[in-house]
Amino acid sequence: MKLVFLGTNGWYDSPTGNTVCALLDTNKEYIVLDAGNGIHKLDKYISEKKPIYLFLSHLHLDHVAGIHVMGKLKPIKHLVESLTVIVPPKMKGYLDKLINVPYTMPFSRLGVTTNVLEIGDKSLPSWMQFQPMEHSVQCWGIKITREGRTVSYGPDTGICDALRVLAKDVDCLITECAYKSGERNPAWPHLNPEDCATVAKESNVKKLILTHFEAFRYSTLEDRKVAQEIAQKIFPDAVSAYDGNEFII
Ligand SMILES: [Zn+2]
Ligand SMILES: [Zn+2]
Repeated sequence: MKLVFLGTNGWYDSPTGNTVCALLDTNKEYIVLDAGNGIHKLDKYISEKKPIYLFLSHLHLDHVAGIHVMGKLKPIKHLVESLTVIVPPKMKGYLDKLINVPYTMPFSRLGVTTNVLEIGDKSLPSWMQFQPMEHSVQCWGIKITREGRTVSYGPDTGICDALRVLAKDVDCLITECAYKSGERNPAWPHLNPEDCATVAKESNVKKLILTHFEAFRYSTLEDRKVAQEIAQKIFPDAVSAYDGNEFII
């Protein structure tokens, strides 16, 4: 399966990229990980008729602000078998308010079958597993098992056991890397490069990809290169993601 990074910034768009969004393109479905502004590139990658799953880890705006651009799917709605939006428990009401008049058009106007499900809903497929992350608001990570491979996405979080559970033995771990080396803030938990690499090493991950570089701290792409080098000292198969990067998992 193919993994494409559509946005790799945290907090806000800048010359380094768009806010966070990644696409996992499997044989059977498109899985979109968060809806930062990078999601405006999604339509370029929709080429076959398949269901789309949109996972929203939490409702911080850098993870949902791009959702109003979903209207770009309208001209290619014949390729969208269905749209399933996944949100944390008790967050459906908040999303319904945000994706509605007067802010933007509701999903119902997309012209595709849309369902918004909260984590814990029994109708969610069993090949998705979820873990609660440690963040300033309720935030969840996801593990996807498809085509005999496993991909986990650990979005806004500090180091926690749930992240280690999510990461255990996976082929690919995608983590946020909002903070710079040595930085930590228990009041607003995020990961730094060595945190990401340590979790990957402890959890027997095969490949680690860093994303969600906070735009103020990582103001140049050179900063991401430094983060990659720091991570590689602990876990050699670590890379920093840039907008447009593609990986075959
Ligand atoms: Zn964020
Ligand atoms: Zn956040």
